[in-house]
Amino acid sequence: MPSLLKSSALASILLLLATGLWGAWGFAVHRNINRAAVYALPEPMLGYVMPHADWLSEHAVDADKRKHSVVNEAPKHYIDLDALPGDSIPRTYAGAVALFTHDTVWEYGVLPWQIRWTYANLVEAFSEQDLQNSLRLMADLGHYVGDAHVPLHTTVNYNGQLTGQKGVHGLWETRLPELYEERYDLVSGGAVYVENVLDFAWETIDYSHEFVAAVLGEEKKISEAFGPNSYVNEERGRSIQKVRSRPFCEAYHVALGGMVEQQWRGSISAVSSLWYSAWIDAGQPELALE
Ligand SMILES: [Zn+2]
Repeated sequence: MPSLLKSSALASILLLLATGLWGAWGFAVHRNINRAAVYALPEPMLGYVMPHADWLSEHAVDADKRKHSVVNEAPKHYIDLDALPGDSIPRTYAGAVALFTHDTVWEYGVLPWQIRWTYANLVEAFSEQDLQNSLRLMADLGHYVGDAHVPLHTTVNYNGQLTGQKGVHGLWETRLPELYEERYDLVSGGAVYVENVLDFAWETIDYSHEFVAAVLGEEKKISEAFGPNSYVNEERGRSIQKVRSRPFCEAYHVALGGMVEQQWRGSISAVSSLWYSAWIDAGQPELALE
């Protein structure tokens, strides 16, 4: 029944907006990352995976869609580095749980460990030459690694809600990529073998976190300079929405100095490299088409 479908789709969109539980990167970017990561694979893996590029792209956002139905899915997409008490966070999950308790660790997010866990499951699925499971885990790993490149997924102030900057999350991850994708060079280097996946996940997250101050600071500065001209009413589909104005976005994008493009491109090569590494760790199995 189309009308029912339509209303349930609308309901889930409204739910997403109401709860603020979007993914890092807009859906279109996640889909692009998984697709481009396929093309960055070397042969023979490229040949095995290429026929599934559409599937991997389409399912790049499954992990976000699960957030409302799967218990504990949401904390797998972020880590609030600045909310965890103390100066340094243990790099291992066991160490973090021992120091902060299980509940605190899950409250502030488990993204670096989730990347490691999904990776381990992918190595196992590759080893068993279980194509369906391998593809599912590749799609998820691509999603989590993409999330790790988004600065606002590493802070408790993930939507500027603590500093009167609500909406900065969607601005950075969806609005800017939407407006400026055409200007970006998203050709990433080829996949490289990653020795230590947990270290790699942490380096990626620590690097993203360094951008938090600029993401929030520049938004504040430019919002103040633009005043009411920060926003404009724009037609989106059949509705009118209040969105950031083009001149505001342009100024903010310039102030960020290529950050969105760089983190997007970085996501592609990181995803490709981790897929490739998992396949190497699994003993470079042949992945049959059926
Ligand atoms: Zn996500």
